[in-house]
Amino acid sequence: MTAIDRGDYSRSYPYEDSPQSIGWGATISAPHMHAYALEKLRDYLKPGMRALDIGSGSGYLTACMAHMVGAEGLVVGIEHIRELVELSERNVAKQHADWLTAGRIKFVTGDGRKGFPEDGPYDCIHVGAAAPKKPTELLDQLKAPGRMFIPVGSMSQHIMIYDKEPDGTVHEKKWLGVQYVPLTNEDEQREYGF
Ligand code: SAH
Repeated sequence: MTAIDRGDYSRSYPYEDSPQSIGWGATISAPHMHAYALEKLRDYLKPGMRALDIGSGSGYLTACMAHMVGAEGLVVGIEHIRELVELSERNVAKQHADWLTAGRIKFVTGDGRKGFPEDGPYDCIHVGAAAPKKPTELLDQLKAPGRMFIPVGSMSQHIMIYDKEPDGTVHEKKWLGVQYVPLTNEDEQREYGF
Protein backbone atom coordinates (compact mmCIF):
# COMPACT_ATOMS: atom_id res chain seq x y z
CA MET A 1 0.00 0.00 0.00
CA THR A 2 2.92 2.37 0.51
CA ALA A 3 3.73 1.86 -3.19
CA ILE A 4 0.46 3.54 -4.20
CA ASP A 5 -0.10 7.08 -2.90
CA ARG A 6 -3.63 7.30 -1.51
CA GLY A 7 -3.32 11.08 -1.95
CA ASP A 8 -3.84 10.47 -5.69
CA TYR A 9 -7.18 8.75 -4.99
CA SER A 10 -8.95 10.85 -2.36
CA ARG A 11 -9.29 14.63 -2.23
CA SER A 12 -10.28 14.66 1.42
CA TYR A 13 -8.17 13.28 4.29
CA PRO A 14 -6.45 10.58 2.20
CA TYR A 15 -4.24 9.40 5.06
CA GLU A 16 -6.95 9.11 7.74
CA ASP A 17 -7.96 5.55 8.60
CA SER A 18 -11.59 6.07 7.62
CA PRO A 19 -13.70 5.92 4.44
CA GLN A 20 -13.95 9.17 2.42
CA SER A 21 -16.57 10.34 -0.04
CA ILE A 22 -15.53 10.25 -3.72
CA GLY A 23 -18.87 11.46 -5.15
CA TRP A 24 -21.88 9.74 -6.76
CA GLY A 25 -22.81 8.19 -3.42
CA ALA A 26 -19.56 6.21 -3.28
CA THR A 27 -16.64 6.12 -0.85
CA ILE A 28 -13.03 5.04 -0.94
CA SER A 29 -12.87 2.36 1.75
CA ALA A 30 -10.79 2.87 4.89
CA PRO A 31 -7.12 1.90 4.59
CA HIS A 32 -7.48 -0.84 7.21
CA MET A 33 -10.18 -2.53 5.08
CA HIS A 34 -7.97 -2.32 1.99
CA ALA A 35 -5.15 -3.84 4.04
CA TYR A 36 -7.35 -6.71 5.26
CA ALA A 37 -8.43 -7.44 1.70
CA LEU A 38 -4.87 -7.42 0.30
CA GLU A 39 -3.62 -9.64 3.15
CA LYS A 40 -6.39 -12.19 2.65
CA LEU A 41 -5.80 -12.24 -1.11
CA ARG A 42 -1.99 -12.02 -1.18
CA ASP A 43 -1.42 -15.65 -2.24
CA TYR A 44 -3.73 -15.00 -5.20
CA LEU A 45 -2.05 -11.72 -6.21
CA LYS A 46 1.37 -13.15 -7.03
CA PRO A 47 3.28 -11.98 -10.12
CA GLY A 48 1.48 -13.00 -13.30
CA MET A 49 -1.89 -13.64 -11.63
CA ARG A 50 -5.27 -12.31 -12.76
CA ALA A 51 -7.71 -10.49 -10.46
CA LEU A 52 -11.12 -8.82 -10.59
CA ASP A 53 -12.05 -5.84 -8.36
CA ILE A 54 -15.82 -5.30 -8.28
CA GLY A 55 -17.03 -1.80 -7.32
CA SER A 56 -13.61 -0.35 -8.08
CA GLY A 57 -14.64 3.25 -7.21
CA SER A 58 -11.53 5.41 -6.77
CA GLY A 59 -9.30 2.71 -8.26
CA TYR A 60 -6.98 2.69 -5.24
CA LEU A 61 -7.33 -0.97 -4.32
CA THR A 62 -7.27 -1.98 -7.99
CA ALA A 63 -3.91 -0.17 -8.32
CA CYS A 64 -2.52 -1.92 -5.21
CA MET A 65 -3.55 -5.24 -6.75
CA ALA A 66 -1.89 -4.28 -10.05
CA HIS A 67 1.29 -3.45 -8.14
CA MET A 68 1.26 -6.96 -6.65
CA VAL A 69 0.52 -8.96 -9.83
CA GLY A 70 3.28 -7.12 -11.70
CA ALA A 71 3.86 -6.53 -15.39
CA GLU A 72 2.78 -10.03 -16.41
CA GLY A 73 -0.46 -9.93 -14.43
CA LEU A 74 -3.85 -8.36 -15.07
CA VAL A 75 -6.31 -6.61 -12.78
CA VAL A 76 -9.76 -5.63 -14.02
CA GLY A 77 -11.78 -3.07 -12.07
CA ILE A 78 -15.52 -3.02 -12.78
CA GLU A 79 -17.69 -0.13 -11.63
CA HIS A 80 -21.23 0.82 -12.70
CA ILE A 81 -20.90 4.63 -12.44
CA ARG A 82 -19.15 5.75 -15.64
CA GLU A 83 -17.88 8.97 -14.03
CA LEU A 84 -16.13 6.91 -11.34
CA VAL A 85 -14.52 4.71 -13.98
CA GLU A 86 -13.14 7.86 -15.62
CA LEU A 87 -12.02 9.18 -12.23
CA SER A 88 -10.20 5.92 -11.44
CA GLU A 89 -8.41 6.04 -14.80
CA ARG A 90 -7.31 9.63 -14.12
CA ASN A 91 -6.17 8.65 -10.62
CA VAL A 92 -4.04 5.73 -11.82
CA ALA A 93 -2.63 7.82 -14.69
CA LYS A 94 -1.13 10.33 -12.22
CA GLN A 95 1.77 7.94 -11.53
CA HIS A 96 1.15 4.74 -13.48
CA ALA A 97 -0.20 5.72 -16.90
CA ASP A 98 1.98 2.95 -18.38
CA TRP A 99 -0.02 0.31 -16.46
CA LEU A 100 -3.14 1.43 -18.33
CA THR A 101 -1.53 1.51 -21.75
CA ALA A 102 0.23 -1.82 -21.22
CA GLY A 103 -3.02 -3.49 -20.12
CA ARG A 104 -1.76 -4.43 -16.65
CA ILE A 105 -4.79 -2.66 -15.20
CA LYS A 106 -8.08 -1.95 -16.90
CA PHE A 107 -11.37 -0.41 -15.82
CA VAL A 108 -14.73 -1.30 -17.32
CA THR A 109 -18.17 0.23 -16.83
CA GLY A 110 -20.76 -2.40 -16.01
CA ASP A 111 -22.87 -4.21 -13.46
CA GLY A 112 -20.40 -5.95 -11.16
CA ARG A 113 -23.09 -8.29 -9.82
CA LYS A 114 -22.54 -10.26 -13.03
CA GLY A 115 -18.75 -10.15 -12.70
CA PHE A 116 -16.73 -9.83 -15.90
CA PRO A 117 -16.41 -13.29 -17.49
CA GLU A 118 -14.70 -11.83 -20.61
CA ASP A 119 -11.30 -11.74 -18.84
CA GLY A 120 -11.87 -14.64 -16.43
CA PRO A 121 -11.41 -16.97 -14.79
CA TYR A 122 -9.59 -15.08 -12.03
CA ASP A 123 -7.15 -16.18 -9.34
CA CYS A 124 -9.04 -13.88 -6.98
CA ILE A 125 -12.07 -11.61 -6.88
CA HIS A 126 -12.48 -8.70 -4.46
CA VAL A 127 -15.91 -7.14 -3.99
CA GLY A 128 -16.06 -3.64 -2.48
CA ALA A 129 -19.84 -3.54 -1.82
CA ALA A 130 -22.17 -5.96 -0.08
CA ALA A 131 -24.05 -8.77 -1.84
CA PRO A 132 -27.37 -9.86 -0.29
CA LYS A 133 -26.54 -13.57 -0.55
CA LYS A 134 -23.93 -16.10 -1.70
CA PRO A 135 -22.65 -14.83 -5.09
CA THR A 136 -22.84 -18.00 -7.20
CA GLU A 137 -22.48 -16.20 -10.56
CA LEU A 138 -19.18 -14.70 -9.35
CA LEU A 139 -17.91 -18.00 -7.92
CA ASP A 140 -18.20 -19.46 -11.43
CA GLN A 141 -15.60 -16.88 -12.55
CA LEU A 142 -12.96 -18.03 -10.03
CA LYS A 143 -10.11 -20.33 -11.02
CA ALA A 144 -9.54 -23.55 -9.12
CA PRO A 145 -7.70 -22.82 -6.87
CA GLY A 146 -8.97 -19.30 -6.32
CA ARG A 147 -10.28 -17.05 -3.57
CA MET A 148 -13.03 -14.44 -3.21
CA PHE A 149 -13.25 -11.67 -0.57
CA ILE A 150 -16.78 -10.27 -0.35
CA PRO A 151 -19.08 -8.65 2.20
CA VAL A 152 -22.37 -10.59 2.33
CA GLY A 153 -25.62 -9.71 4.10
CA SER A 154 -28.11 -6.85 4.42
CA MET A 155 -28.76 -5.66 7.98
CA SER A 156 -25.91 -7.75 9.38
CA GLN A 157 -22.93 -8.20 7.08
CA HIS A 158 -19.80 -10.31 7.25
CA ILE A 159 -16.75 -10.61 5.06
CA MET A 160 -17.02 -14.05 3.52
CA ILE A 161 -13.95 -15.82 2.20
CA TYR A 162 -14.81 -18.35 -0.51
CA ASP A 163 -12.04 -20.75 -1.44
CA LYS A 164 -12.35 -22.78 -4.60
CA GLU A 165 -10.19 -25.87 -4.20
CA PRO A 166 -8.17 -27.40 -7.06
CA ASP A 167 -10.95 -29.99 -7.54
CA GLY A 168 -13.55 -27.21 -7.91
CA THR A 169 -15.31 -27.59 -4.55
CA VAL A 170 -16.00 -24.32 -2.72
CA HIS A 171 -15.43 -23.80 1.00
CA GLU A 172 -16.71 -20.72 2.79
CA LYS A 173 -15.53 -18.97 5.94
CA LYS A 174 -17.45 -16.25 7.74
CA TRP A 175 -14.82 -13.75 8.85
CA LEU A 176 -15.20 -10.14 10.03
CA GLY A 177 -18.43 -8.29 10.89
CA VAL A 178 -18.53 -5.18 8.64
CA GLN A 179 -20.70 -2.38 7.28
CA TYR A 180 -20.36 -1.85 3.53
CA VAL A 181 -22.60 -0.03 1.07
CA PRO A 182 -24.70 -2.53 -0.92
CA LEU A 183 -24.22 -3.58 -4.53
CA THR A 184 -27.07 -1.66 -6.16
CA ASN A 185 -28.39 -0.85 -9.57
CA GLU A 186 -26.99 2.26 -11.17
CA ASP A 187 -30.21 4.30 -11.44
CA GLU A 188 -31.04 3.85 -7.76
CA GLN A 189 -27.56 4.89 -6.69
CA ARG A 190 -27.65 7.99 -8.91
CA GLU A 191 -31.06 8.97 -7.56
CA TYR A 192 -30.86 8.09 -3.87
CA GLY A 193 -27.20 7.42 -3.10
CA PHE A 194 -27.11 4.35 -0.88
N1 SAH B 1 -13.32 -0.23 -3.58
C1 SAH B 1 -13.55 1.15 -3.96
C2 SAH B 1 -14.97 1.65 -3.77
C3 SAH B 1 -15.79 1.12 -2.61
S1 SAH B 1 -17.45 1.83 -2.51
C4 SAH B 1 -12.60 2.07 -3.23
O1 SAH B 1 -12.13 1.72 -2.17
O2 SAH B 1 -12.35 3.17 -3.76
C5 SAH B 1 -18.40 0.66 -3.45
C6 SAH B 1 -18.38 0.91 -4.93
O3 SAH B 1 -19.21 -0.08 -5.54
C7 SAH B 1 -18.96 2.26 -5.37
O4 SAH B 1 -18.03 2.93 -6.18
C8 SAH B 1 -20.23 1.89 -6.15
O5 SAH B 1 -20.50 2.79 -7.22
C9 SAH B 1 -19.88 0.50 -6.64
N2 SAH B 1 -21.03 -0.36 -6.96
C10 SAH B 1 -22.19 -0.54 -6.26
N3 SAH B 1 -22.99 -1.40 -6.89
C11 SAH B 1 -22.34 -1.80 -8.02
C12 SAH B 1 -22.67 -2.67 -9.09
N4 SAH B 1 -23.84 -3.33 -9.13
N5 SAH B 1 -21.76 -2.84 -10.08
C13 SAH B 1 -20.58 -2.17 -10.08
N6 SAH B 1 -20.22 -1.32 -9.10
C14 SAH B 1 -21.08 -1.14 -8.07
